[in-house]
Amino acid sequence: MIIDIHCHAGRGDGLTAPWNTDAPLAAHLRRARRAGIDRTVVFSAFHSDYAEANEEVARIVARHADELIGFAFIHPVRDAGRIREMVTRCVTRHHFRGIKVHGFDGMPTREVCDVAREYGLPLLIDVVGRTEVIDMMAPQYPDVNFIIPHLGSFRDDFRAQQQVVDQLVRLPNVYADTSGVRRFDYLLQAVRRAGPRKLLFGSDGPWLHPGLELHKIRLLGLNQEDEALVLGGNARRLLASVKTPLTAKRAANATATRRIRPRYRPANPFATWDRGAENEI
Ligand SMILES: [Zn+2]
Repeated sequence: MIIDIHCHAGRGDGLTAPWNTDAPLAAHLRRARRAGIDRTVVFSAFHSDYAEANEEVARIVARHADELIGFAFIHPVRDAGRIREMVTRCVTRHHFRGIKVHGFDGMPTREVCDVAREYGLPLLIDVVGRTEVIDMMAPQYPDVNFIIPHLGSFRDDFRAQQQVVDQLVRLPNVYADTSGVRRFDYLLQAVRRAGPRKLLFGSDGPWLHPGLELHKIRLLGLNQEDEALVLGGNARRLLASVKTPLTAKRAANATATRRIRPRYRPANPFATWDRGAENEI
């Protein structure tokens, strides 16, 4: 299964650049289908109110429930004090499976990382070249999986990208996505030095072509097994760690009654398409 871990959806309200204006998906989804991409993770464009933007993403995900997986976009500073509430709504009501934070808004605070830990959500954080924050966050939250888009820099800061390759090797809970990376040899280094389990295919659609971004992964020349990890196996594994409040509650009940049950029934990452599971919540 091929999973694109990085795509935007919905309208922004900044109207000064594509990434804060509109992320239309119609052409993107046609391109993705043609490229053989099975699932696409989507989150908002830049917005002045992410609670509102997340609701729009939820409506889009609901319209394409067999293709899209939602992540909650959070502004660590502006949303401070309501982050848990926002994420809880996205996870329980909309079955979102991760959190997105952009460094232009602010770097993840403990409030963000705590809720990622609580629900087992991967945290996709664009560090905008400030790779030193990865060395702060990741060891503080060893049980949170951090995904660093663009190997650390959409703007091709080679110092940042080289640093992220080193961090992939050093930090077990740090991953990177391949979206927008132009310096191909850094991608090669990442899989060779950190291993194929640390890199995830992403497109940064709809502004970049998913087929073109996908072709970069094919060009890495990996064996079939390793390529499958980068294309979707790693994403599937990280998305499978999500715990909904329901599964947490069940686990607590199971412990209380001393019945033998798994500690957590890991939520099926693809349960978004399972109406039965939705009704349970
Ligand atoms: Zn992006």
